[in-house]
Amino acid sequence: MRLDVVTIFPEYLEPLNVSLVGKARARGQLDVHVHDLRDWTYDRHNTVDDTPYGGGPGMVMKTEPWGEALDAALADGYESGAHGPVMVVPTPSGRPFTQELAVELSERPWLIFTPARYEGIDRRVMDEYATRMPVYEVSIGDYVLAGGEAAVLVVTEAVARLLPGVLGNAESHRDDSFAPGEMANLLEGPVYTKPPRWRGREIPEVLLSGHHGKIARWRRDEAFRRTARGLPPHRAEPPRPDRALRGLRLRQEGPRDPEHPGLETVRRRPILAQAGGRGRIGGCCVLAYAPATGGSSSAG
Ligand code: SAM
Repeated sequence: MRLDVVTIFPEYLEPLNVSLVGKARARGQLDVHVHDLRDWTYDRHNTVDDTPYGGGPGMVMKTEPWGEALDAALADGYESGAHGPVMVVPTPSGRPFTQELAVELSERPWLIFTPARYEGIDRRVMDEYATRMPVYEVSIGDYVLAGGEAAVLVVTEAVARLLPGVLGNAESHRDDSFAPGEMANLLEGPVYTKPPRWRGREIPEVLLSGHHGKIARWRRDEAFRRTARGLPPHRAEPPRPDRALRGLRLRQEGPRDPEHPGLETVRRRPILAQAGGRGRIGGCCVLAYAPATGGSSSAG
């Protein structure tokens, strides 16, 4: 995959030389090109911004340097054999960056990032390049950063680890929280390693059983449990029920958690649900999202 980043702070992208992304670059799995936007300015001050039309506070990034920088990055990429560019524009007003979107971007051969500063980039830049390639406007969260470089690092790290051969074990991201498939809408449960006893704390016995089926069921149950408990109190809407739970009848068993009034403790009954079409879910208690009205509920 080829990555181009156009920025006024090329040094901000130094972390792309570190750890997993750095190794992917060293192995040639990621071909990263960082461009200084100011290389396409021609005045003494290397100006990239100007006052906004219509007045108001802050400055807006100018069309001309962005246009020239993007044209140059595109020309360079095409010359070196890259194809299928996609522009990724970090912006708080963009599509929320999710694992699903990370997977989508990881399937593209060439990403061109345009992290902005000030009040953002003149709208016409995105409109112009949208006539030549898909433009993804992406937000990494409901807060406002000073610039888009940190968002580029976030998106790149999430995308790079999905590229074939980047993770040592190709299977590992399939069990990740939010991974498309069985883990979509689920958080991964707790993990443990040696020693088996630390400061009086034991690991769950099932993990020493050597019984793969039981361990898989335990992990699945823990994922449900953590997903339910992990709902941040400020989140008004619970996540969509997991596909694997569709059609399952869940019976209320315990009281609502006062911190998470949208949740109720339930017991699966009978314990024979199809998990995403594969295998069966075992175990007993899970927490599930339920309508605030209470009573019997179905998670599907
Ligand atoms: N005035 C803009 C607004 O309210 O939407 C915010 C501009 S912000 C100070 C400057 C730049 O930081 C943005 O253009 C974008 O590139 C980046 N940025 C800030 N918050 C972001 C977020 N949550 N996700 C992605 N990029 C963000």
